[in-house]
Amino acid sequence: MRIDEALRQARGRLASSPSAALDAELLLCHVLGQTRTWLFTWSDRELEANQQTAFEALLARRETGEPVAHLTGEREFFGRPFRVTADTLIPRPDTETLIEIALALPLPDDARVVDLGTGSGAIGVTLALEKPHWQVALVDLSEAALQVATDNAGQMNAPVQCLAGSWLVPCEGPFDLIVSNPPYIDASDHHLDEGDVRFEPRSALVADDKGLADLAEIVRQATGKLVDGGWLMLEHGFEQGGAVRALLDEAGFQDVRTAQDLGGNDRVTLG
Ligand code: GLN
Repeated sequence: MRIDEALRQARGRLASSPSAALDAELLLCHVLGQTRTWLFTWSDRELEANQQTAFEALLARRETGEPVAHLTGEREFFGRPFRVTADTLIPRPDTETLIEIALALPLPDDARVVDLGTGSGAIGVTLALEKPHWQVALVDLSEAALQVATDNAGQMNAPVQCLAGSWLVPCEGPFDLIVSNPPYIDASDHHLDEGDVRFEPRSALVADDKGLADLAEIVRQATGKLVDGGWLMLEHGFEQGGAVRALLDEAGFQDVRTAQDLGGNDRVTLG
């Protein structure tokens, strides 16, 4: 079967996925060890029998709902491939908003930075690579997630420190920048029963108190661990902007503001 024909059939099979065409392309890229550009350039090539079999097997798993990132073992974030497993959240494009804001902050060249609940390391590793003089630490309570973050940092030569523990507890500080994409979804949210989220660790998604418990705990801990003029930056749900601004205001943070993600929803609050 030709590449273009295999992709057309796969799109049909994956029609229940909101990203059927992209899913099919990424899975075939993975089987062939090639880029999407290569696929389109050589779309009239014949697949070998073993390639077709491997593609079929991945499509069957995707049809059951398994995330593409789990099938290929990676997800691109801020232009770099991050290894992901079932122990980590799959990095979201929305979180790239947090990176862009962090990179634009008025911070010293050698800023001390920590990424709390780092998961795959997407935020901290990206910051360490974009700002080579920043001193970046990655923290996660999950040893399995921290291993994935450590592997990603090593793979991309990001000079980061990896610490196991709860939020800022394992950190000495003080920091110029504390960033986190913590769990912030309420346990009753129907969004948890849909799509890729079903295959991600609950501990990375769900928090008590309408999803605000971990955000509140991080604000509490961060209050004593920032330098004068340092920043705290938190990702949160699209309906949590007001609540998170209130947490920062009450803790005495200044210049508190909320930024929107690519979809125009409140997503990141900083102060
Ligand atoms: N934004 C993610 C979602 O809606 C959740 C990420 C998180 O809880 N930190 O699926």
